[in-house]
Amino acid sequence: MRVYELAKKLGCPSKQMALELRELGIEVKSYMSSITAEAAQEVLDLYAKKPAAPPPLLKEISITDPITIGELAPKLELSPANLIKNLLDQGKTYTINQHLSGELAKEIAEGYGFKVKEVIPLEEVEMSLVEEAEAAEDLKPRPPIVTIMGHVDHGKTKLLDAIRTTDVVAGEAGGITQHIGAYKVRVNQGEVTFLDTPGHEAFTAMRARGAQVTDIVVLVVAADDGVMPQTREAIDHAKAAGVPIVVAINKIDLPAANKDRVKQQLSELDLLPEEWGGKTIFAEISAKHKLGIENLLEMLLLEAEMLELKANPDKKANGVVIEARLDKGRGAVATLLVQDGSMKVSDPIVLGQYWGRVRAMLNDKGQKVAVASPSTPVEVLGLSGVPQAGDAFFVVDSEREAKQISSKRQSIHREKAAKVAHRLSLDDLYRKIQEEGIKELDIIIKTDVQGSCEALKESLEKIGSGQVKVKVKVIHQGVGAIKESDVMLASASNAIIIGFHVRPANPDVKELAEKEGVDMRMYRVIYDVTSDIKLALEGLLEPEIREVIIGLVEVRQLFKVSKIGAIAGSYVKEGKITRGAEARLIRDGVVIYEGKIASLRRFKEDVAEVATGFECGITLVDFQDIKESDIIEVFTTEVIPKKL
Ligand code: GDP
Repeated sequence: MRVYELAKKLGCPSKQMALELRELGIEVKSYMSSITAEAAQEVLDLYAKKPAAPPPLLKEISITDPITIGELAPKLELSPANLIKNLLDQGKTYTINQHLSGELAKEIAEGYGFKVKEVIPLEEVEMSLVEEAEAAEDLKPRPPIVTIMGHVDHGKTKLLDAIRTTDVVAGEAGGITQHIGAYKVRVNQGEVTFLDTPGHEAFTAMRARGAQVTDIVVLVVAADDGVMPQTREAIDHAKAAGVPIVVAINKIDLPAANKDRVKQQLSELDLLPEEWGGKTIFAEISAKHKLGIENLLEMLLLEAEMLELKANPDKKANGVVIEARLDKGRGAVATLLVQDGSMKVSDPIVLGQYWGRVRAMLNDKGQKVAVASPSTPVEVLGLSGVPQAGDAFFVVDSEREAKQISSKRQSIHREKAAKVAHRLSLDDLYRKIQEEGIKELDIIIKTDVQGSCEALKESLEKIGSGQVKVKVKVIHQGVGAIKESDVMLASASNAIIIGFHVRPANPDVKELAEKEGVDMRMYRVIYDVTSDIKLALEGLLEPEIREVIIGLVEVRQLFKVSKIGAIAGSYVKEGKITRGAEARLIRDGVVIYEGKIASLRRFKEDVAEVATGFECGITLVDFQDIKESDIIEVFTTEVIPKKL
């Protein structure tokens, strides 16, 4: 055995071990020296007789994230005033009620010689107020919560309507359908809850806000049209969320219906029907003629059974805000979907930043209900403000507690308002891999043509990152400009977006990406993509060349001049444009050309520069195929010096 190994075994520094061995008369040259088994045993025996090591000097504390100075000070055995003063001496200004991030609080505590055992997110602390110990026998099956997705016009809305009318209780109760954002239907075998906003956009927007509501996705595919772009998107969005898919082949009443083709197409996308040896449930329906609806509902209950969806109806409720608004006569109104527990009239609740005492609950038939059990959507009155869709809600013990939590959340919200959410980015990927142990890098790729989509996906997924062992996974790929739903998917899945010969579809998309903190990168060469990702995985990516967009121009009219070619009569929408500058031509979000501005004219005069709000004539170097409403992006590249 070597000295350092023995030291490690006994939990003492190698140097001390070496000295002790020498005192025992054992020859030791370095920590690497070997010692005999007898000598090692001698030391082990000696240590066994030694009194137990004194307790560690560091005091252990746990903190919440965030935490106020007022809450942190007593943990550090200081008065808040002292803590504030000490921080001020270090040049940091804080007030007693200001919130520190868990990370910063930890740093401060360690500075005072405390060991921070755990940093608990505040929401968990709050949630633990409602979490009661529950035994397995308390859990009862609950209805599945279902979202309908699919391509436009494939019949999502029609299906939601058809399902609503199959409700066996609807007729007898005589209620009038209310659109509150979700509804529950009862069929003979059980109940199913549907979210009323179909499509993957709403689904992923909720997820980006941290709410996972849906248990099963029904993918509607029209039998006459087959798999279309939004069908693929829906599949990727559901998969990224890990939610199982049940396929509904719709419009089987049409003569052009081709069910087998749909099955074939979906099989290629990993949705293999059970009858073909796969695992995916397929139902054939006609939403218009209400055919096969009951069967679809049965299939959903079957899938739910396999998922073993359970909740405890006997505890205090928690769940998600589905939608909320300010009603003229009734004040703040929200539709809450109970995910666990049961909610009763007069329960005190916290929703997002607000609180309330449930004054009345109405179901989707406009009827008053006294108790809402798991998977039940209800419209709730009696709230202090309008929460956001996707906010979590939970019932607490008292109105006082509800108010306290809500006011704390509001102050955190005010402090946070200016900050941008930060998702994963290539620049800090390596740090996150090291610190947070990220195992997978999720990527969304958008390209100009299908061919490069496949090629890019293949080369990306091939990147086996030697030491760090991070898997690169393309969670969604598509052709065309980058859209809002791509950004939301990236936000919800902590993925980055790679645009290959494409751009964001419009300025709103770029703005959304900035707001959501989503890293969006544009490339022109596959090698550059793979090399950047490789470098980022190894922590070696350095931003060296940055593109700066200096102007945006819209082509309004075209002139063909025999000797010169195509002159684009254009309008400078943003920034400015200069002759000889680098430029790219974008059509429907796809980069068509990249080169330089050849000439720039105003009223037949050559000019060097044209500013925002002015019109001008532009020609591009070696490029004639300009069309009306093309966008010309003018940019320069800046070289950022390497950090030493
Ligand atoms: P969504 O965009 O997916 O919500 O589609 P809609 O529910 O609005 O339906 C689009 C169109 O398809 C409408 O004109 C419907 O009447 C029609 N449609 C929906 N389901 C069926 C069906 O089962 N058979 C036939 N023939 N038409 C249908």
